[in-house]
Amino acid sequence: MATVELIGVRKRFGKLQVIHGVDVAIDDGEFIVIVGPSGCGKSTLLRMVAGLESVSEGEVRIGGERVNEREPMDRDVAMVFQNYALYPHMSVRRNMGYGLKIAGWARADIDAKVTEVARLLQLGQLLDRKPRELSGGQRQRVAMGRAIVRQPAAFLFDEPLSNLDAKLRVQMRLEIRALQRKLGTTALYVTHDQVEAMTMADRMIVMNEGRVDQIGSPLAVYERPSTMFAAQFIGSPAMNVFEARIESGMATLPGGARVRVDSAHVGEACLGVRPEHLAIDSDGPLSMSIRQSEALGATTLVHGDLMAGAGLVTVSVAGAYHGGAVGSEVRLSAQTHHLHLFDPVTGSRIA
Ligand code: ADP
Ligand code: MG
Repeated sequence: MATVELIGVRKRFGKLQVIHGVDVAIDDGEFIVIVGPSGCGKSTLLRMVAGLESVSEGEVRIGGERVNEREPMDRDVAMVFQNYALYPHMSVRRNMGYGLKIAGWARADIDAKVTEVARLLQLGQLLDRKPRELSGGQRQRVAMGRAIVRQPAAFLFDEPLSNLDAKLRVQMRLEIRALQRKLGTTALYVTHDQVEAMTMADRMIVMNEGRVDQIGSPLAVYERPSTMFAAQFIGSPAMNVFEARIESGMATLPGGARVRVDSAHVGEACLGVRPEHLAIDSDGPLSMSIRQSEALGATTLVHGDLMAGAGLVTVSVAGAYHGGAVGSEVRLSAQTHHLHLFDPVTGSRIA
């Protein structure tokens, strides 16, 4: 258990800079999710904490101590990879105990620890199997077990659930979070999946092209995204964004529709509103021509064109929606406190 700090961390591969200065202080026992699209630098950042990549600039501290120059073995962290990285010729028992053997533990101590952790992970019956005799979920659990036996200061997870089917992913994310709470171990968890970030994180780090866009609790990021990128990456379906002109607390959209905004800003802006915050409402100020609907059971996603070519819009309606004939016009409203404004050039949130 330990704090993890990144101070002005940058990474260059030759001339190519891929991490542009990351600063974050992670509390002891905190579960931090690093989330962003493929290629934004999540794995690189995690691998710098693990010691698998050198740090080009800045400092990584674990438990308050600089670890930049330390070998991975000497950082007291344990990493869990997407492809599990189990030794195929070793049994579950040997896979789980291998790190302890390398660290010089006595045979009896290794056996006791592996047995204890196997029980925690419900792997007791599988200890003598080889990885190929296990399901994907079981392999993932063995990889977790191998990390847990070492009682590291921090767990580092790199997309550990990406190879599992959707149902198992839901189960495993609950399991991982419950285990981490029980053990109290600091965790850095990398994913491109915003649902994993929302459901697992104490705080998430939203990354965009090697930069941190926002660090905050899932609900803080959802409710007050600090950039248009964070706004559209977190939340599903993505936030709708329209060009607008803001003046005297009113936003005017192409075609002349006007909605009230809670801002003293004057000038061009991007107006954002989440699909679940738009309502089909005959008195609403906006109008949409319906293109198609997707019934998901609990909700229906109604997609269409906002008037006067203002753009595509998605509305999430609770339950079934029967008024969605293709080509029909409906009116939309949104509450002022659910509207977001962003700078059209920088993408930053406008107060
Ligand atoms: P993510 O995990 O978010 O998908 P990565 O951290 O793997 O992203 O990669 C970030 C960027 O760094 C990408 O543009 C990738 O091509 C580049 N990159 C990663 N590793 C290397 C490497 N060893 N050499 C050169 N470029 C790399
Ligand atoms: Mg990656």
